Amino acid sequence: MVGSGVAGLSASMSLARQGYNCILVEKAGSLGGHAAGYTCKAINGKCQKCGACLVDDLLARFGDFPEIQVFLETRIDRIERKKKGFTASLNGKYGLKDINCGAILLATGFKPFDPDEKSNLCFSSIPNMITAVELEAMLRDKELPYRPSDGRQPETIAFVQCVGSRDPKRGHPYCSQVCCGYALRMAGRLRDLAPKTKITFFFMDIQTFGRSFSQRWASLQQDFIWINEIPGDYFVSDGDRVGVSVEVEDEIVDLSFDMMVLSVGMTPTDDQLTYQQMLDLSMSSEGFMLPDEDRGVFVVGSASGPMSIEKSITDAAGSATRVIAYMEGAR
Ligand SMILES: Cc1cc2nc3c(=O)[nH]c(=O)nc-3n(C[C@H](O)[C@H](O)[C@H](O)COP(=O)(O)OP(=O)(O)OC[C@H]3O[C@@H](n4cnc5c(N)ncnc54)[C@H](O)[C@@H]3O)c2cc1C
Ligand code: SF4
Ligand code: SF4
Repeated sequence: MVGSGVAGLSASMSLARQGYNCILVEKAGSLGGHAAGYTCKAINGKCQKCGACLVDDLLARFGDFPEIQVFLETRIDRIERKKKGFTASLNGKYGLKDINCGAILLATGFKPFDPDEKSNLCFSSIPNMITAVELEAMLRDKELPYRPSDGRQPETIAFVQCVGSRDPKRGHPYCSQVCCGYALRMAGRLRDLAPKTKITFFFMDIQTFGRSFSQRWASLQQDFIWINEIPGDYFVSDGDRVGVSVEVEDEIVDLSFDMMVLSVGMTPTDDQLTYQQMLDLSMSSEGFMLPDEDRGVFVVGSASGPMSIEKSITDAAGSATRVIAYMEGAR
């Protein structure tokens, strides 16, 4: 198993439950992947179903499985196909080690879109423009948003949706599925923490969440300001505010905010290419890895494309059944 995000944890525990030994290789120093860095978005104790605590549930049960051997701060340098199974060469904290296994599961996850790839955002030169990943870390560490430039609490915040998604020019034509949901939950949490904060959304359209969304949309329109355009230009305004030029009612206007949050999408990881080459894998039209299950290579969770925490967990648990069928057939 390569990767210990919610997908890697879920698949390895499902396999261990069925009596299979699993070697879990994680390049980071701790388990849990991206979701381990998210914060609870409950408002007045009411759960917003963000899924962040699902990783804590998995980690709490993980110790019950001695069948799973963990190698932190470790990568795989080489994989050799054998007549039966594979030999993988591990390289990391515990030195060099060759291991034999019957199947390989790639749970290497995703990379949040890097806003420096989109030059019109001027991300590196606007101090109070942050990504949603940075806002998560801020809320986890300080429990309040603050401006990187002066540590002050922002009175006006703008979210820009679809950053690095639905963007065929940059090779990311797909919808990342999760960023409308996470941005709305973050905005709700921000308003709960600081009710006077004015929050504006720049959006193309909103990825809806089930049948009750139309009712929810009515209350969201009251809570936040909605501008159905994505700004074209971004700049520093009034010293340290974030300015944008945007078309509103057929006119280009300049607006400015104390802080701006980019709702970055989910993109393929840089390591993916290495695995594609090592295992001779194909790519999906969205640029993520495709499995080669007939030859013992499985791709689980967001390594196969954008998906939520809950979906990554169920996808990975479901793949365990196919891994077992493959292993039984290969005996
Ligand atoms: C800003 C943001 C906020 C989000 N908020 C939410 C939310 O509120 N709710 C929700 O449901 N979803 C949310 N998501 C999506 C969520 O992060 C994913 O659904 C989830 O993390 C997918 O889990 P995963 O295990 O597939 O991948 P990851 O969490 O990416 O885990 C992959 C693991 O593999 C490891 N790895 C990668 N390459 C290698 C390698 N070569 N060797 C060894 N280890 C490797 C990584 O270190 C990592 O530990 C959000 C996404 C973003 C970008
Ligand atoms: S799902 Fe999210 S909001 Fe609900 S309790 Fe868990 S972490 Fe908090
Ligand atoms: S989930 Fe929302 S913000 Fe993310 S790409 Fe889709 S429409 Fe855009």
